[in-house]
Amino acid sequence: MFADAAGAATLGTKIALRGGYIHQTFQGGYTYSPLGCRVLRNIERIIREEINAIDGQEILMPVVSGADLWIQSGRYDTVDVLAKFKGRGGADYVLNPTHEEVVVDFIKSVLETYRQLPFAVYQIQTKFRDELRARAGLIRTREFIMKDAYSFHVSQQDLEKYYARALDAYYKIFKRCGLKKVVHVLASSGDMGGSIAHEFQLISEIGEDTVYICDCGFGANKDSAGRGGICPKCGAKMRKERGIEVGNIFQLGDKYSKSMGLTYAAPDGARKHPVMGCYGIGIGRTLAAILEESADDNGPVWNMETAPFAAHIVALADKDVRVNDMAEKIYADLQAMGIETILDNRDARAGEKFADADLIAAPIRLILSPKNLDAGVIEAKYRLNDRDASQMKSSFAIDNCGREVNNAIKLLKGH
Ligand SMILES: [Zn+2]
Repeated sequence: MFADAAGAATLGTKIALRGGYIHQTFQGGYTYSPLGCRVLRNIERIIREEINAIDGQEILMPVVSGADLWIQSGRYDTVDVLAKFKGRGGADYVLNPTHEEVVVDFIKSVLETYRQLPFAVYQIQTKFRDELRARAGLIRTREFIMKDAYSFHVSQQDLEKYYARALDAYYKIFKRCGLKKVVHVLASSGDMGGSIAHEFQLISEIGEDTVYICDCGFGANKDSAGRGGICPKCGAKMRKERGIEVGNIFQLGDKYSKSMGLTYAAPDGARKHPVMGCYGIGIGRTLAAILEESADDNGPVWNMETAPFAAHIVALADKDVRVNDMAEKIYADLQAMGIETILDNRDARAGEKFADADLIAAPIRLILSPKNLDAGVIEAKYRLNDRDASQMKSSFAIDNCGREVNNAIKLLKGH
């Protein structure tokens, strides 16, 4: 546990534990603290905005479903990570590790005619995979939160158009999360069936996947790279890298709509099976990937969109009561402006406060000391993984603090 393939603890998981973001509840299952939960919700917000922007409609499906749906699709006995259990009345249930069966069952209740197509639905929901071994801390967990989207089309051609939009949206999502080294690689579709699939991989030494990347822009995972890692696009030798899979997209074809009897009325009245795509992003996995890529020895480095707080006020009162009074006033002002702010007015040493501020890693740190107060300023320091803040102001006039912080947030947020 908490180890990479070589058995060493990964920096990201160590930092998440040290910073109090997570607590291991069971092998492969984590409780997210208030701090960790704030980051998760921020990642979810980014995903919602970008998936809504490609016409995704949010739904919510249950974690549990009856075994019958999985028997219908033919996957009840073939997916080894499927957790099965019996109810007291003897009924067979599963904990869904993915929701193709459940979504097709839902869409059967609403889809009637070709006029409704295309459309896409998505959810942000907990899933469970009964992995024999859970590894690498937050990277491969048994229970995890995922955004999973499903699209429905009259033709393969229409699916491919939407697939391209989803691919673009994924790059926007990972960029907004502050991830820099994400690539998409051709992947075999494994359990999902269908033909074309891609994985989004964060290139990282601690990644458990092997990917092959070509200078021409083509990439493939181990199963799809072909012999000798020769690029099928340009014939050059591809680079071997390690990656953390943060998302995947699949062209499913009519595998599920056929096996589960999902049909719509075509213009000529004939019943046809819609062509489907599915699109996943691991939320906890994305948080872990941000930590692995950006954290330093002092703590995480978030960006303005993912950080648990935008601003962190460090009050170094040193028995000067004016400092805490002013810090509380600034805190109240920032809160009133809707700026997510945390105030450290504990009676603790400066070194301890700064170490904790590094672990919380608000992008804007505001330091108030008796000396600053006498000068009428609050000192500003920045910590972000996707912006150069070296030209930002190093102090704000106390009287103008709210407006200055607001401006700084706008500058540091633009995407
Ligand atoms: Zn190539």
